[in-house]
Amino acid sequence: MKKLLQKDEFDALLSTSSGVQFLGPVRLKGRGRFSDTDLIKYGQIKSFTDIVWDSKTYLSAKELILPITETLLDFTGTTVVQPPVEDAILVLFLRACDIHAIERLDAIFLNNGPSPDPYYKQKRDRFKLVLMECAVPFDSCFCVAMGTNTVSNFGAAVRCIEDGILIDIRDEWFTSQIAGSGTDTEFELQFPQQNGADVHVPHIKEMQEQLFTHEMWDEYSKRCIACGRCNTSCPTCSCFSVHDISYGHDSNSKIARRQRVWDGCHLDGFTDMAGGAAFRIECGSRMRFKTFHKIYDYRKRYGVNMCVGCGRCDDVCPEYISFANCINKVNDLVNESRSTPDE
Ligand code: SF4
Ligand code: SF4
Repeated sequence: MKKLLQKDEFDALLSTSSGVQFLGPVRLKGRGRFSDTDLIKYGQIKSFTDIVWDSKTYLSAKELILPITETLLDFTGTTVVQPPVEDAILVLFLRACDIHAIERLDAIFLNNGPSPDPYYKQKRDRFKLVLMECAVPFDSCFCVAMGTNTVSNFGAAVRCIEDGILIDIRDEWFTSQIAGSGTDTEFELQFPQQNGADVHVPHIKEMQEQLFTHEMWDEYSKRCIACGRCNTSCPTCSCFSVHDISYGHDSNSKIARRQRVWDGCHLDGFTDMAGGAAFRIECGSRMRFKTFHKIYDYRKRYGVNMCVGCGRCDDVCPEYISFANCINKVNDLVNESRSTPDE
């Protein structure tokens, strides 16, 4: 079913859907990197005009399903209290690459062990995904190279037009929500076929061991400052640390909170172990680890690249380190080794 909703019809739908929260890219005035710049991030949508269609979010929708800081348990002396379970349905507006990113997280948190992560699952089960059509990608995107430019796993898809929104409805829940609203229409969703960033991903069978120790990683040891922005902005980076925080007045207090907090492979301390051991001290080895995790290890296990080509890491790096370029450099080395006969 395809519908045209005028802006006021869309707004009426948002306000009359009880037990449903609408979330998407919104603009926070003056909250950007400088006091006179805005921050585009995921937040609640209360009207058509709240949705930002023409800018990429700094952080992805990951923070809604895997919060930056998430309480796992509270200890209150003799009992353990779990955080309250919420039940509102969360309708999430996001682009094709970011829908793929949620699938990447699903693989890790739902299908990577004997049982799903209950905190992730509780939120994931409440999500309804709405694709925001993205016919013209942003400059740093490389979704086509990553195969994430098209997608079919969504409940509805929307295109912003001058008068309102065109909606392509694919599942029963959205059909029932929108029944009686708007007018029937026809349109075909468009997906990007080309990106500004030209990226070539090598085949995993050709990524040989020599790449792990290649001097190309030394450049990143000189340039990367281990700020971790590339990890936090990435929609598929899923690492976290677990902390217990005591709320008592003395060290014997039994009142504490256990929480998990985003962590990242570029950050100092990420590999610290008991006894003072640590791995990947050099930033170049962290870059190598991330690169292989995104385009080798994950693909070996799940058959797809972990990186979805959203380009956020390239957008936010204060040292202008490009992950897209890094993938191309690895590809160039693979091509070189193919054309160099064995000695
Ligand atoms: S482009 Fe960068 S931020 Fe986006 S998914 Fe790939 S590694 Fe993560
Ligand atoms: S954003 Fe850039 S400088 Fe910061 S950790 Fe990532 S690669 Fe290094």
